[in-house]
Amino acid sequence: MFARIAPFHTNVLVVGPTRTADDRAFLQGYAVDVAEETGTVATYALHNDYSVTDFDAVYVVGTATTLRDANGLVLVAEALAAGMPVYDSAHPQEAGYCICGLGQNVQPLRDERGDIQCFECSGLTIGCAHCGESADVEELEIVKKGDTFSPVHSTCITEARREHPRAKIATA
Ligand SMILES: [Zn+2]
Ligand SMILES: [Zn+2]
Repeated sequence: MFARIAPFHTNVLVVGPTRTADDRAFLQGYAVDVAEETGTVATYALHNDYSVTDFDAVYVVGTATTLRDANGLVLVAEALAAGMPVYDSAHPQEAGYCICGLGQNVQPLRDERGDIQCFECSGLTIGCAHCGESADVEELEIVKKGDTFSPVHSTCITEARREHPRAKIATA
């Protein structure tokens, strides 16, 4: 009954309340969790000037039905109209740990026995967003570029810094 359909996603948009500085900080933190837990490139929406169909799915801070943020509502409505998956935040009681040790709060997937099986163990992560190689979540760092968080090998970050010494690469 907890099982959720979890297609393979690479690029997701994270929406939620953005009115206060706390709201925006929470939204950003949630996008980091989404990138880390679901192994996708996660962009958080501080405005509605996105083409939602550039993304595979939308993750909502809270639930789509209780969202009161105008920008977020526009994006959710566009996503639903385009037939895209929109994922509400999981209830805290649904959160837990995969047998591999990875915490799952955003969208805990469960196997047929009802045990949490993380995205990585389910084969649903993209690996390193830089080199495209598969990787264990533990080997990856979440890199921030603008409003987007990507899972990247720490070795790939070192390489990117060498190639583009002036580029700012922040890690979360
Ligand atoms: Zn796992
Ligand atoms: Zn890499």
